Amino acid sequence: KNIADKIAAGEVIERPLSIVKELVENSIDAGASEITVEIRNGGKTFVRVTDNGCGIPRDEAETAFLRHATSKIATLADLTAISSLGFRGEALASIAAVTRTSLITRTPEERTGCRITIHGGEVIENTGVGCPEGTTMIVTDLFYNTPARRQFLKSDSAESGLIIDFVSEMAMAYHDRRFQLINNGRNLFSTPGDGNLKKTIAAVYRRREYEELVEVEYGENGYSVSGCISRPSLTRTNRRDQVFFVNGRIVKSRIMERGVSEGYRERLAEGRQPVVFLFLRTDPETVDVNIHPNKKEVRFHDEKAVIAALKAAVFQTLAAKEA
Ligand code: ADP
Ligand code: MG
Repeated sequence: KNIADKIAAGEVIERPLSIVKELVENSIDAGASEITVEIRNGGKTFVRVTDNGCGIPRDEAETAFLRHATSKIATLADLTAISSLGFRGEALASIAAVTRTSLITRTPEERTGCRITIHGGEVIENTGVGCPEGTTMIVTDLFYNTPARRQFLKSDSAESGLIIDFVSEMAMAYHDRRFQLINNGRNLFSTPGDGNLKKTIAAVYRRREYEELVEVEYGENGYSVSGCISRPSLTRTNRRDQVFFVNGRIVKSRIMERGVSEGYRERLAEGRQPVVFLFLRTDPETVDVNIHPNKKEVRFHDEKAVIAALKAAVFQTLAAKEA
C-alpha cells in the first residue's frame, strides 16, 4: 500500500513547485487573507506555508491526509461547477507520502490546536498544541524515501524560480489577500493584500514605477477586461512583464498579446513592449483551459472577439489618459 501511495504520489508531486501549489491553493480554499510561503534550497529541503484561514478541526486533521477522504467531487455535474481550487482530495496524502510533513492547525472555535507529523506516509505524532488560528504546513526533505526521484529535480535556483513565478502569479490574481514570499531566509516580497493591484504588482516586481500604471476597466459583448497597463513612455524590450489572466487563471496567449499590441498601435517605439497585467473575464463555455495543473495554454472559441476586446480596452484607456 505504501508503494502504491508513493507511485500515485508521483503523479501529483513532481517537484517542490507541486507542493507549494497544492498548499497555497488549500490556503486560498480555506479563506485565508494572509498567506506566507517560505522555501529553502529551491523547496527541496524545506517548504512552509502559513495561513490565517479556517483551520482544520482537531478530530478531522488526520483524515485530511487520507487519499480521496476529502474529495469535493460528489457528482460529474460538480466537475464543471468547481469553485474551489482543490478538488481531488489527494494532495496532502501525496505530499505526506514522499516527505516529512508537519501540520499545525487550529479553528477559531477550538482553544487548542494540533500538530500532526507524518514521515513517508507514517503518522509519527498527533498531539494538541497551542497555536494561532489557521494552518501551517511544514514540508521537508522531498523524496527522502525515494532517492531515485531526487535526481530529476533541477538546480535549487531553477526550482525556486518556478516557485517564485507561481507565488507571484497568485499574489497578483488574489490581490485582495496578503502574500509574503521568503527564499533562503530573504524576504522576496510582501503584498499589501488590500485589493490595490498596482501596489501589488509594484511589490511583486519590486519596481516602484509600476505604481504609476494606468487602470483598465472595460466591458462589451460578454468580455470584461480589467487590470493595469503602462503608458507608452514606460516600455520594455520583451514581453516578460505582460501577464494575462482568464477567469482568474494565469495563461499564455498569443491572441491576447496581439489584442494588446493592436491597442497600443503606433504609440509604441519600434521593438518596445508595454507592461500589462490584464484580467479577462468571459463565459467559461467559450474558453478551453488546459486542465493539466502545470499547463497554462488557453484556446478561445472566438479569437477575433478576444482580440477586439483587448484592443478596445487598451485603446480606450490610453485615449482617455491623453484627453
Ligand atoms: P483537497 O484540497 O483536494 O480537498 P487536499 O489533500 O489538498 O485535498 O486537502 C485535504 C483537506 O484538508 C481539504 O479538503 C481541507 O478540508 C483540509 N485542508 C488542507 N489544507 C488546509 C488549510 N490550509 N486550511 C484548512 N483546511 C485545509
Ligand atoms: Mg487541495
